[in-house]
Order: sequence, then structure tokens, then C-alpha cells
Amino acid sequence: MRIRNKPWADDFFEENDDVVVSEPFSYKGKWQEIFEEEQPLHLEIGSGKGQFIAGMAGTFPDVNFIGIERVKSVMVGALKKVKEAEVSNARLVNEDAKDLRDMFAENEIDHLYLNFSDPWPKTKHEKRRLTYRTFLEQYESILKPGGKLTLKTDNRGLFEYSLSSFSKFGMVIEDVTLDLHELEDENNVMTEYEQKFSEKGQPIYRCTVSVSV
Ligand code: SAM
Repeated sequence: MRIRNKPWADDFFEENDDVVVSEPFSYKGKWQEIFEEEQPLHLEIGSGKGQFIAGMAGTFPDVNFIGIERVKSVMVGALKKVKEAEVSNARLVNEDAKDLRDMFAENEIDHLYLNFSDPWPKTKHEKRRLTYRTFLEQYESILKPGGKLTLKTDNRGLFEYSLSSFSKFGMVIEDVTLDLHELEDENNVMTEYEQKFSEKGQPIYRCTVSVSV
């Protein structure tokens, strides 16, 4: 059973305010100020326990990363991973990414990642999918012209839905793979879910799209 609230989580976040951004809305348009270097800004929505953001920050030190995770007890894991990785280019936000335009200015983000997002398979829950039209409107606003979005999932239904949603919205589909691990992409950093599903032999789907210039 998931422990919804860890009473010590708030203290843990406060003690690590070099990584956890407690007032993210006040940084709208100013995110570069909280990093040591001004460099491209990449955003992951639904960072989970942080394997991806910690790994990406270590692999790409010339990029600044922000991870948003709405479940406090899950973000505790992400914070531990970022601290263990000893990286200075990753920040975490414990919020629901329901209106990113309150947190980021237009054109502030270079690349956005959706990793193993909840599939919400029932049609009546379509609006909750992170690739539903209303989310794409937000992504388009905060991404730079030509900015990219990469989605990885094991869920074929969500993958097909997302490709169709991107395309209807006018995003340009730049790359699609139906079996990511067959590619042996040395730049691929695995997420917790990706590792779990690929160890079971399930194919991982990935696509990258861009917003119009
Ligand atoms: N990305 C991780 C991975 O691949 O291992 C975790 C995948 S898990 C299925 C999805 C995560 O996204 C959960 O931790 C959930 O709390 C988070 N999430 C879902 N919707 C969100 C939202 N609107 N804002 C922030 N986090 C969200």
C-alpha cells in the first residue's frame, strides 16, 4: 500500500532546499536564476522516484533539469536519488502539473519529458491523460518554438492515442520507435517503470515531437 503522507517529508524537503523548490510559482520566467549555469531547460512531468532526472542530470551536465511530481511520498525517493547523484543541475517540484502556465513563462522550456504517464484507459477519463489536448496547449505555450517533447511508455493504447493527439494538434512527429531497447541508444536513461517493464521483456515505445517554429 502506498503511504500517502510521510510526516517527515516536509522537513526533508526543507533541509534540501538546494534541490526542492518550495515556491515554484514565484520562478515563472526566472527559472534560470536558481541554477548555477544558464543552460537549456528540460522539464519532466511525473518524475516518480527520480531515476530518470538524476540519471539525465549526471549524463547531461550542460542541461538544467526540473522534475515535477505531485505525490509527496514518491518525491522523497526522487530527492534521495538526486542527492546521491551529487548533481547541481536538477531541481524538484512537489506540485500537480495541472496548469504549467502558472509556473513557466512562454517559451521558457527547451524539452519536455513524459515518462510512463498514467494511461487512464477509460474514455471517460481521456481529459486526465497528459497528452490530452488541454495539456498540449500548455506544453506548446511553455516550450520554445521548435522545442521538443519526448514520450516513453509501455502502454500501447496511450502511445497510439498520444501520436494521434500530437498530430491533430499540429505537432511535428520527428521520431517514433516501437522497441526502444532494440535500438541500443546509449543516450537513453531508463526510468524505474522502464526498467521494470523491459526486464519483463515488454517493448518500450518512444516518440519525440516538436512544436512549430
Ligand atoms: N516517470 C516515472 C517512471 O517512469 O518510472 C513514474 C511513472 S508513474 C506511472 C507516473 C507518475 O506521475 C506518478 O508518480 C504520479 O504521481 C505522477 N503524476 C501523474 N500526474 C501528474 C501530474 N498532473 N502532476 C505531477 N505528477 C503527476
